[in-house]
Amino acid sequence: MMPPEPGPGEDWYADDPALARLLALDTDAATVKAAEPLLGALGTLAPSRLDALARRADRTRPALRPGAGPGGQDSVAYDASYLELRRLAREHRVFTAAWHPLGGRARAPRTVHFALGYLYAQAEAGYSCPGCMTDGAAFVLARHAPPALRDAYVPRLVQLGAEGAWEGAMLLTERSGGSDLAGTATTATRGADGAWRLDGEKWFASNCTAEVILTLARLPGAPPGTEGLGLFLVPRVLPDGRPNRGIALRKLKDKLGVASMATAELEFQGAGAFLLAGEGRGFQAMAEMVNLSRLYNAVASVAIARRALREGLRNARQREAFGALLLDQPLFRRGAVALAVEVEGALAVVLEAARAMDRAGEGDAEAAALLRALTPLAKACTAKLAVRAASEACEMLGGNGYVEDYVTPRLLRDAQVLPIWEGTTHVQSLDLLRAARRQGALQALRGRADALHAEARREPALAATAADLHTAWDALAAEAARALAGPDAAAQAAAWRLTRALYHAMAASLLARAAAHAGPAARPRAIVVARAYAALLVGPAGAEGERVLEQVALAHGRAVLDAADHAQPI
Ligand SMILES: Cc1cc2nc3c(=O)[nH]c(=O)nc-3n(C[C@H](O)[C@H](O)[C@H](O)COP(=O)(O)OP(=O)(O)OC[C@H]3O[C@@H](n4cnc5c(N)ncnc54)[C@H](O)[C@@H]3O)c2cc1C
Repeated sequence: MMPPEPGPGEDWYADDPALARLLALDTDAATVKAAEPLLGALGTLAPSRLDALARRADRTRPALRPGAGPGGQDSVAYDASYLELRRLAREHRVFTAAWHPLGGRARAPRTVHFALGYLYAQAEAGYSCPGCMTDGAAFVLARHAPPALRDAYVPRLVQLGAEGAWEGAMLLTERSGGSDLAGTATTATRGADGAWRLDGEKWFASNCTAEVILTLARLPGAPPGTEGLGLFLVPRVLPDGRPNRGIALRKLKDKLGVASMATAELEFQGAGAFLLAGEGRGFQAMAEMVNLSRLYNAVASVAIARRALREGLRNARQREAFGALLLDQPLFRRGAVALAVEVEGALAVVLEAARAMDRAGEGDAEAAALLRALTPLAKACTAKLAVRAASEACEMLGGNGYVEDYVTPRLLRDAQVLPIWEGTTHVQSLDLLRAARRQGALQALRGRADALHAEARREPALAATAADLHTAWDALAAEAARALAGPDAAAQAAAWRLTRALYHAMAASLLARAAAHAGPAARPRAIVVARAYAALLVGPAGAEGERVLEQVALAHGRAVLDAADHAQPI
């Protein structure tokens, strides 16, 4: 028997045990109210139409059409399902909300923007990358392009209608490597007319048909390393309307996942370009898009983890073994509760990063430091969670979970790219070290954690958890300080351990604070989740944490897992 599938009856916004509650915590009530129709519409569209389209788009891979585009440019044929996914994303503001008014605000906050992305990516992970780069290209152009270029390109990137809209791409990785961009070999030359031309190869070019490409190239006579790189805009259509010749698509990558989206090997052959940020500034300007992409990556990761949990639970609610539903088997429930708790913590971290981005955008320096620290933590740890959750979901469904008739293999294939692109897990961990050394990342995290604990303590049932978390943060801060003060080689070797520990500590602190603010119906469950997260994943944890998890699974498993039952007394 096949496991049941999502369908028109489901609403992934309404049935999410934490999304609305976490969103309401840090977003004003009027904005949340204004966002509800958007979130509600996507909540029902994702499990029905989006999911069906995503299944087809995954199976019908894009195909290269050399010379078949406007002006003889290379182009790609996409299946109608992919184009419809793209249209629906725009119609529902999934990647553009933050550019448009919402409620009384001139622009929707990133908390709402990423909540939309979280719902969308539960159905489709392929288009999430192009959508992210479209927003990111507009973000960088708005900050670094001269007004004429900005006004020519940004409006079509962020427009609400799909008709005539443009898309973005970010091309950094070359054959020599994506982690270390110092070896970038693409060159920029300037003609007598002052126009720039680029020559070189980009080894991975996702959304390779994008109209607006942002890329790095070495400036004439510039020093080696990242200092000598300029940030360039390479438009497919030049401002005077002519096609930009010299952007060749050599082949499409035959990928494990995110198959609906085209990733090419691309060559610039004298492509027309515009310099946005020159020597000493290009790499830093590009990093702004990279950092936004890392947050998007975390959003997609939590989405895949949530979807994986959904599929495991949907099956467990109707599948019997040994005379009882899987969901009522203590050991099965233990695994499901562990995953549910971790997914909820991940969502809390992602929304916290979104909130920090909103505040940083308003000029709050403390929030900017917090965002600097949260970005690598969230990217690294949620991506690992996505892969693990997708793998768990396959197993929760048994043999059916391994078969491509069902969504779980696609989740696993799509998840596996998340720890790799936008900087691998190691690259994020080393970035955290950099942020700790240069930008006070540890102080920013610690300051925020202390504030969260102060709020958590207002709920008496969380006083002990808040105290334990405080102690754990003390130990972690001392450990990190020791690592940073020691030899660099030892700090690098410890970087992933510290990244993971700080991420879990932050997630636990956020869940504890959120539980203290939960309304009476949701609070008992939120308290159980916060306590379980802290016991299982913070501090030395180990066997004692496992015992707490087992008790929670036995005593409160149904209440933690049944979203619809979260009013159920605990
Ligand atoms: C489907 C897909 C689409 C992509 N799309 C794009 C795109 O549109 N634009 C783009 O620019 N790139 C894109 N990429 C490339 C991606 O960003 C890179 O693959 C990634 O950044 C890693 O670079 P690399 O492949 O060169 O691996 P390498 O840099 O060679 O790294 C190999 C391994 O070494 C590890 N490593 C490297 N340095 C260190 C260190 N100092 N300490 C410890 N470990 C280290 C890494 O963590 C990794 O595990 C895409 C990749 C994929 C798979």
